[in-house]
Amino acid sequence: MTVAAQVLTLLATLQRETDAGLLLITHDFGVVARIADDVIVMHDGRAVERAPVAGLFDDPRDPYTVRLLNAVPRIDGPMRRRAVLGDQRPPVLTVRGLSKTYGLTSRLLRRRTGEVRAVNDVSFDLAAGETLAIVGESGSGKSTTLHEIMGFAAPPGTISVNDMDPATTRGRTARALRQEISMVFQDPAGALDPRMTAHDIVAEPLRVAGRAPAEAAARVTELFTRVGLDAGHGQRFPRAFSGGQRQRLAIARALATEPSVIALDEPLSALDVSIQADILELLCEIQDATGVAYLLVAHDLAVVRKIAHRVAVMQGGEFVEIGPVADVFERPQHPYTRQLIAAVPPLDPRRARIEAGA
Ligand code: ADP
Ligand code: MG
Repeated sequence: MTVAAQVLTLLATLQRETDAGLLLITHDFGVVARIADDVIVMHDGRAVERAPVAGLFDDPRDPYTVRLLNAVPRIDGPMRRRAVLGDQRPPVLTVRGLSKTYGLTSRLLRRRTGEVRAVNDVSFDLAAGETLAIVGESGSGKSTTLHEIMGFAAPPGTISVNDMDPATTRGRTARALRQEISMVFQDPAGALDPRMTAHDIVAEPLRVAGRAPAEAAARVTELFTRVGLDAGHGQRFPRAFSGGQRQRLAIARALATEPSVIALDEPLSALDVSIQADILELLCEIQDATGVAYLLVAHDLAVVRKIAHRVAVMQGGEFVEIGPVADVFERPQHPYTRQLIAAVPPLDPRRARIEAGA
């Protein structure tokens, strides 16, 4: 949100200096409220509504516009669940002192020229059935944290899944442990192999886990239904699915081996708002039904408020604050958390307006 505000201020400044018209395509109504003068809402290739920005928010005319506006999660909206599960349930994932430094190599000089401390001494527990969200601006180390956990990072730091340390397990136990944690990525188009059929994409983790083909096929059908996909579409390739359907497919794959933890890296940001709401709902339903824990990276605080039990605020590779969603959002302790919350635009063009910089 803080980086988005900087980019929008830059756009507004350049626009004022050059007197250019700006044609901006976005699915983010926060951005619309901040920068647009006029808005065209498109649906199925048609412009269904055109209005000055304040009019669109105050008095949307087209039912599709109304549906879109209602689908936007709000920072002051309802929290889904207030329960803090961490104290009562066993941790499924324990992370202690996780750190990661990337070496920077110069191609020209062909040697290491510096390093980036992407993650610095991060520790937390994730309880069974819990959603812990990690928020923080771009480059704060959120994705690296997930990738180090997924890669079962060797020290510095220790990770244990269901009380077992993947760094010290071997063979069959290591393979079983691998099935306990899976991942969903931001952009389902890039994350799914375009040459594999939908069926094979979901079946692959089952095959790797050594399940018999017939058993795997039955499980794939079950998973398609679980995530709201047509079980008859298994022979289609990813490109034949819409963005939302592809993310459903990625979720089905992540669920295949019945993991205790799913790491989700910005799973909604590539999707349209109305589809975001559906996927959010699906994730909540799955958690209620299976008790899977989510480690969710998201930059949209309204989404976090809606789905997470606890939230960790990351800045410069460190957790600067962690706590139940209600506490962190209503009584933020760290100045950076306050800054992040203050950067969320109100969904009101009169109050959200971005001004050009000096
Ligand atoms: P986030 O997901 O919060 O945006 P990342 O974990 O992707 O942040 O990045 C954290 C920091 O590590 C950033 O400074 C980024 O530039 C750096 N970084 C990420 N991946 C690499 C890489 N493969 N090589 C070098 N630096 C990297
Ligand atoms: Mg990232």
